[in-house]
Amino acid sequence: MEKMIIIGTGCAGLTAAIYAARANFNPLVLEGHEPGGQLSTTTLVENFPGFPEGIDGPQLIMNMKSQAERFGARFQFSTVNGFEPKEGHVRVLVDDAWVETETLIVASGASAKWLGLAGEKEAVGHGLTSCATCDGAFYRNVPVCVIGGGDSAAEEANFLTRFASKVYLIHRRDALRASKIMADRVLANPKVEPVWNTVPTEYVRNAEGEMKGLKIKNLLTGEEKELEVACVFVAIGHTPNTKAFKGALDMDEEGYLLQHEGTKTNIPGVFAAGDVADKKYRQAITAAGQGCAAALEAEKYLAERE
Ligand code: NAP
Repeated sequence: MEKMIIIGTGCAGLTAAIYAARANFNPLVLEGHEPGGQLSTTTLVENFPGFPEGIDGPQLIMNMKSQAERFGARFQFSTVNGFEPKEGHVRVLVDDAWVETETLIVASGASAKWLGLAGEKEAVGHGLTSCATCDGAFYRNVPVCVIGGGDSAAEEANFLTRFASKVYLIHRRDALRASKIMADRVLANPKVEPVWNTVPTEYVRNAEGEMKGLKIKNLLTGEEKELEVACVFVAIGHTPNTKAFKGALDMDEEGYLLQHEGTKTNIPGVFAAGDVADKKYRQAITAAGQGCAAALEAEKYLAERE
């Protein structure tokens, strides 16, 4: 029987691991198929407090991991495939073996949806990103584009106009899905050029592998052309990593875990932290804050049981 299992090694999971390990719980931390979470796919992080010159996303994650290891957190590369509440504890299917635990912190994050075009994986971090807040400031006075028509796309396009010379907003239909206020704002921005009824078909990268353009196709006319852009921001939504908890933990219609009184889930001893439960802020620092809160709650839960 484990005292505490933490699922996920993004900012939320690692912060929970630091707190839990420092409180002598010797937590077992499970790293899934995207170790380090979304920060590990970004470059310079300029808005995490304490780093006035910024810090590389992967470096920040490595620092957090070694900080947790220093206090005794144990790390294991495993996928969580199932979950079951039992009498007074829960159990988790780790790869293909059930592991029992008194407390569980679910910090499995959310994965950005991608377009599925050729060469996508290699282009991420080289002019292809899903996070304008993280990477927007690198693209000053150059044209960029945003893919999507929801609130995220509208917000990111608006934000990017602070830096970019021009922002193409490429949407597959002729109306934004975004809320009216966000849609009106982005369409009134003189630096934003909407490109309607259009889908991206190919990333165009230079000899060094950096993005230099995007091939697009108009779905009504069939016309194809290439836009010159230094960065493609994909904002077509996120998928929370909650498949293993369906039917057991309360979640909203999109699969985000529901939190009660802070980080508690509907099952005693099970806590949710970070992007797996937060579709509003989605920031490294807010995820870290929730990881801390979840570890403190788990600690309190264990103390009350004893
Ligand atoms: P979303 O509302 O699901 O919008 C996704 C957009 O991407 C849609 O316009 C969709 O097109 C498009 N899309 C999906 N798959 C695509 C594909 N394969 N190729 C091209 N386009 C594709 O996602 P979101 O914008 O991330 O928002 C998620 C939630 O967070 C929403 O509830 C939103 O209101 C909320 N949010 C709120 C704020 C805010 O209030 N400040 C900011 C961000 C997000 P279709 O329209 O054709 O389906």
